[in-house]
Amino acid sequence: MNIHEYQAKEILATYGIPIPRGRVALTSDQVERAAKMMGGRCVVKAQIYAGGRGKAGGVKLVHHPEQAQELGKELFGKRLVTPQTGPEGLKVRRILVEEAVEIAREFYLSLTLDRESSRYCLIASAEGGMEIEEVAQKSPEKIHVLNIDPYMGLRPYQARKIALALGLTGSLCEDCVELILNLYKVMLDKDCALVEVNPLVVTKAGWLMAMDAKITFDDNAIYRHREYPDMVDYSQLDTLEINAGKYDLAYIKLHGSIGCMVNGAGLAMATLDVLKEYGGEPANFLDVGGGATREKVAEAFKIILQDPDVKGIFVNIFGGIMRCDVIAQGIIEAASEVQCALPIVVRMDGSQVEEGKRLLAESGLNVQTGDTLGDGAEKIVGMLG
Ligand code: ADP
Repeated sequence: MNIHEYQAKEILATYGIPIPRGRVALTSDQVERAAKMMGGRCVVKAQIYAGGRGKAGGVKLVHHPEQAQELGKELFGKRLVTPQTGPEGLKVRRILVEEAVEIAREFYLSLTLDRESSRYCLIASAEGGMEIEEVAQKSPEKIHVLNIDPYMGLRPYQARKIALALGLTGSLCEDCVELILNLYKVMLDKDCALVEVNPLVVTKAGWLMAMDAKITFDDNAIYRHREYPDMVDYSQLDTLEINAGKYDLAYIKLHGSIGCMVNGAGLAMATLDVLKEYGGEPANFLDVGGGATREKVAEAFKIILQDPDVKGIFVNIFGGIMRCDVIAQGIIEAASEVQCALPIVVRMDGSQVEEGKRLLAESGLNVQTGDTLGDGAEKIVGMLG
């Protein structure tokens, strides 16, 4: 789960991490008033669930409150396209107005999960403010990575080693050690998948400050934090993904024309691969889960059909916990409700498969069944021509 920069900064501030003074605005008049509070000269920052805003015109230094207001008018409602948003961009609904800080140096600092070692890792680089992926590619020696022992936790001497590697000495080095240790506390307390400060800066006045912040919460731990659902900005999410979330369906929109409904994430990945193998382009990833009910299957089906890019549907279900006849009923129910005329290929196997196939054959839908994954994929690609 993502949150905005200003929300991430609020969290960091409660852990004693210095951030610039700022106000969130929902209208251009509020942008003007916030700019006045900052003394006129300030930085106007569009809040979207993506980075790379600076180069896309979403982060700008202004010198007067009127200039801030004009920029607010321009940004509100605009779809900001950055390398992280995809071509459709993300709509700006909130703007952070911040004091303009005189920056002397910029660094990169983050904590995330290293899936290979199954440990948290601290990543730091003196090349801050830039795309970290670019630094990693061009000069990997400039990136310092520290794997954290889950039993020992992050130790002050390790944080000091990183601070020194960034070229910080004296009191700045000690401030950086404290900041890193606090960042680690945020990571643990808030169950984060990522805590990123890019850039972490040294101001011309000689202070360390988090100039940008990104926090991603671990979806599996959301139930432990009652406040998290209220922090979501739904304007930043795909409508179909929001609906899928309500029914506990794992749905991700893709850019092809074949809607996919599969049970199990591994089978879903395999289905996308095999579709591609036969020349098809999946319109989505959709995992209905192991023990889905008829209602859940019906909702999943409706979500796929709401996507105007979908020209055909491929259902690939293994009936283990789930019975094939239940799945078939869900499909028939949903397809009749929304009057679906699109071609459907269902590949089912497992419990009650014959009954499931019979129900589908007698349903009157434009449906074919496939015996194997390859057979099913070939059929749906063929039906779409
Ligand atoms: P993004 O990564 O989405 O482009 P950032 O928050 O990193 O957005 O902002 C881009 C750049 O703008 C930063 O690298 C920093 O140099 C500058 N910047 C951001 N906030 C401020 C601020 N409050 N004062 C001065 N400069 C800022």
